[in-house]
Amino acid sequence: MSLSARQWLDRIRALPLDGPVRIMNVCGGHERSITSAGLRGALPAAVELIPGPGCPVCICPEEDVFEAMQLALNEELTLVAFGDMLRVPVNVPRSEPRSLEQAKAAGADIRPIASPGEAVAIARQDPERPVVFFAAGFETTTAPVAAMLRQGVPDNLFVLLSGRLTWPAVAMLLESGAAGFDALIAPGHVATVMGPEEWQFVPERHRIPAAIAGFTPESLLAAMYSVLRQLQERSCFLDNCYTQAVRAGGNPTARRWLDATMHVADAKWRGIGIIPASGYALRDACRAHDARAQLPSYADDSRKRVGEMPAGCDCARVVLGQIYPDQCRLYGAGCNPRSPVGPCMVSDEGACRIWWSGGVRQRRDVAERSTG
Ligand code: SF4
Repeated sequence: MSLSARQWLDRIRALPLDGPVRIMNVCGGHERSITSAGLRGALPAAVELIPGPGCPVCICPEEDVFEAMQLALNEELTLVAFGDMLRVPVNVPRSEPRSLEQAKAAGADIRPIASPGEAVAIARQDPERPVVFFAAGFETTTAPVAAMLRQGVPDNLFVLLSGRLTWPAVAMLLESGAAGFDALIAPGHVATVMGPEEWQFVPERHRIPAAIAGFTPESLLAAMYSVLRQLQERSCFLDNCYTQAVRAGGNPTARRWLDATMHVADAKWRGIGIIPASGYALRDACRAHDARAQLPSYADDSRKRVGEMPAGCDCARVVLGQIYPDQCRLYGAGCNPRSPVGPCMVSDEGACRIWWSGGVRQRRDVAERSTG
């Protein structure tokens, strides 16, 4: 149904809501659209929009960033990574480089890229020099990495993979018994690749209304209307409000490439811990291009204990939707995009950065949680 944002808002406002409703989104792109379009302020006061685990940079394990930094600092190689990763802070003494950006300033050959194709091009420019592609991201970022590997890469290109699946984090929240939301807006871009079926467990197993949304205010409002109406009618299903892109089964080619090059494994999420079956690992067929198999190891088990969020940073609670960004005591008081303390203020998909960029400049008390 093609309605304007105003028409969707009118429909939402006309719904007789029984009480407060908490709707979680799990996509940085959704959160950015919600914030920049001012949807929180436009919705009825009873509707709370909660940013959830939708930022891959924010949950990338600290030890993976540390490993990438050490490779770049200690080996004769070029390290490439998506731009957002370069400023993610790690927990080391102030006298040492604390991010890939600082490691680059210290002399390491680290370059930001925007696509796997750039990694291939950089590797081809100097076939004698190893190039490590630090590939951190959710399904939509990992699928192009799989495509790159499937199509063949230069011998000197190695992948340091830190890929994650989105739905297991939502499953973990729901199975915790303290999910903190009544309805879910599922990520349209992930469903485009992996298929809407992945999100079926939300209504079927947990009796939580869910709707897949695209990135326009209209699509997001359509999804919000769907879940609010489901709650009002005491029904529960997965609604696809992004039919332009999301088809049953997702993108079969992308899924085939993922299956051919990677398998699913238990994986660590920064500040959260191990989430079962939530990560990608390279298959043996890709061993020749697996940085962890072919290059010196800088994996440091001790970092798995110390390498959480920086002191005082509440990113883990922000990612889990337990607090809003402006409820972190460092928000705007030591942490801002120019001087980020935690990863949620670094990435364009991080809720703290999105809220700051959207003009939210005041801290509020943790006890005050209400609509943002
Ligand atoms: S405001 Fe900064 S320190 Fe606080 S949760 Fe966000 S990124 Fe972390």
